[in-house]
Amino acid sequence: MTNKLIVFSAPSGAGKTTLVKYILKSFSEIQFSISATSRKARGEERDGKDYYFLSNQEFKARIKNDEFIEYEEVYGGNHYGTLKSEVDRIWKDKKIAIFDIDVVGGANIKGMFPDETLSIFVMPPSIEILRERLIERGDVSKQEIDVRIKKAESELDYASKFDNIIINNDLEESKKIAHTLIKEFIDE
Ligand code: 5GP
Repeated sequence: MTNKLIVFSAPSGAGKTTLVKYILKSFSEIQFSISATSRKARGEERDGKDYYFLSNQEFKARIKNDEFIEYEEVYGGNHYGTLKSEVDRIWKDKKIAIFDIDVVGGANIKGMFPDETLSIFVMPPSIEILRERLIERGDVSKQEIDVRIKKAESELDYASKFDNIIINNDLEESKKIAHTLIKEFIDE
């Protein structure tokens, strides 16, 4: 099997993380690409599982060292990025890397590996529903929700750069669509 990548991108709250977790459970040949971030760990998050948590200084040193495939300042000064070593690790294991990353990062990865990447944009049914989901999730402040909603409005313009768009109206339906797309991609 050639080296392959699967990207899930969406505005925050659209449901991409739930879909990625479902795909990871369904396909043993797919492994999660753990991003690096300079933000602090939240709740149950663990270093080396959810993210590689780096200090600002360390993140910047790694940028300078050219260790990232892509990186970005996503929210309020926090950096997020994909380390080259992470993709190498997954490919060395003969697995397919799956990314849960923001819309710009996802489009960048597709641009860098156009033939190896299946890119999926998860679209929220509406901005209002997105806001409700973020409030229900309860892990970010009201102020941060406003920032994320504003960003979501501009992120929706990126959808056309992706191979597929899943409108996440009904989670079970979205899971089925994602499963079918990925099965086809793996069997290619
Ligand atoms: P959170 O702080 O909620 O974990 O993530 C904030 C945003 O950063 C989400 O949209 C998430 O998908 C995105 N993100 C996570 N890892 C990466 C990465 O490696 N690169 C980019 N560009 N965005 C990322």
